[in-house]
Amino acid sequence: MDISVRLDEQGRLIVPANVRGALGWNSGDIITVSLKENRLVFHPRKCFLCGSEDNLTPITADAICKTCLDGLGGAAHEERSAG
Ligand SMILES: [Zn+2]
Repeated sequence: MDISVRLDEQGRLIVPANVRGALGWNSGDIITVSLKENRLVFHPRKCFLCGSEDNLTPITADAICKTCLDGLGGAAHEERSAG
């Protein structure tokens, strides 16, 4: 599928709705843009622990999903209880 879109004055482009739908991208999703061999590759950011694309919280260059974040909170709590 090749689709042409025009960059606006600030370098933004619109991903057409049918493409977003086909990819399952929703408003608010975090999309990572990678430069690979002089081409841009767009892909959803994933949790660095489990690979989930849902309920992400950005942390520095990575992201973590709510499930893993809650798990870390539980682990930290257990450490405090044991220590
Ligand atoms: Zn996760």
